This record gives sequence, structure tokens and C-alpha cells, in this order.
Amino acid sequence: MLYVVATPIGNLEDITLRALRILKEVDVILAEDKRRTGKLLKRYNIKNIQQIYNDHNKERRTKNIIQMLKKGKDIALASDSGTPGINDPGFYLIRACIKEDIKVSPVPGPNAAISALAASGLPTDRFTYYGFVPKKEKKAKELFKKIKLLKESAIFYESPHRIKNTLKIMSEIAPTKQIVIAREITKKFEEFIRGEVKEVEDRLKNRKIKGELVIILN
Ligand code: SAM
Repeated sequence: MLYVVATPIGNLEDITLRALRILKEVDVILAEDKRRTGKLLKRYNIKNIQQIYNDHNKERRTKNIIQMLKKGKDIALASDSGTPGINDPGFYLIRACIKEDIKVSPVPGPNAAISALAASGLPTDRFTYYGFVPKKEKKAKELFKKIKLLKESAIFYESPHRIKNTLKIMSEIAPTKQIVIAREITKKFEEFIRGEVKEVEDRLKNRKIKGELVIILN
């Protein structure tokens, strides 16, 4: 069985009892980065084997992992943070397992997009998750033009280095849309910045924005 195990997005207390039990019991934990998953394991005194599974080695490693699963081993797939497969490696392996009739079971837990939406105060009844804002300005503009016409919440991941430029583009296209920037969710400097796009852009002009970010538009 392959377990798809969600892990914290910041606060190490955000881990389920089932996730901890599975991380303890499986034969191998597939981690994107041994140090980051290692911190979680150390905190809960889990001394299990970690193997690297990431975007660089996924094609090479998948065959071997499938063989282990076919021999009856249990494997937990974890990513750096949050839910594997959501802007993290996982999809490739999960699809390969399903093709080989290997059971795949989710171990639900944190996810930055859903956590941000839940506390945003923006409508949650209809939403689309777009992953990271496109790096190419032309593509970002096209996407924001489409989103401007939609009556649903649009969720993006964004880097602190690009947020100001993204706000500039958004405010040219949709200055009065509601925006929520969720920063450092579950961590010490957690912050929700809410308002209209243009107004938030102006407010943040003289401020350095650090940390991990989710943007929601509606
Ligand atoms: N698998 C993860 C999930 O389930 O949310 C997402 C991984 S993706 C590679 C990393 C991005 O998620 C960050 O660049 C940021 O945009 C967002 N993110 C992750 N943790 C966050 C947090 N604590 N606060 C705000 N955004 C976060």
C-alpha cells in the first residue's frame, strides 16, 4: 500500500495521529528532502528509513518503488510540506501505482491553499486552485483577465520575490477585486492581508514581504 501522507506547513503540531502511526509503521518513508521530513520525525521520535523521492529522481526511482510495493512493502509518501501531489512531487508515483493496481490511500492533513481559503473570509462555496502564478507576465495577464470575469475564489501560490510585481499586474487588470494574502500560515509571523487589489498594492509598496504566501482573489 502507498500512503499519501500530509505533513505540517509550518507548525509541527499540525500532524494527525494516523499520520504519525503510519510514518512509524511503514517500511520506508519517501521524502522530498530528508532534513525537512527529518525534523518532523525527530520531534515525534520516529526512527524510520527515509529515501529521497523528488522531481529530479522520480523517473529513475518509480520502478524500484513499484517493485517494493508489489513485494508487499508499505510505503509513505511525504513531501516537504503539506499534501503530496499538490505542487509537490507525488502525482507521477501515484499514477504509476494506480496503473499497476497498487492500493493508494490518502492520510489527510495540512494544505496551504485550503488553510488560506478557510480563514480568508472570501466565499468558499466555489473556488479554483491555480498553483503558482505564471512567471511569464503575458501568461499571468491572460489568466487574471479570465479570472476577473469569474464569480469564484481563485487561489494561487506565490513567491515573496514576485508578489509586488504580481500585485502590480493584478491591479492594472482588476483593481477592485477582493484579495487576501495569507502569509506564513501556522507559523510565528502568520498574517492575513485583506482588501481591494489596488488598495493592498498601495499599502504594501513600502514594505518588504517575506515568507511563504498564498493569494486568493474573488
Ligand atoms: N504541498 C504543499 C501544500 O499542500 O500546500 C504546497 C507545496 S508548494 C511547493 C510550496 C508553496 O505553498 C509555497 O511557495 C507557498 O506559496 C505555499 N505555502 C506552503 N506553506 C505555506 C505557509 N505556511 N503559508 C503560506 N503559504 C504556504
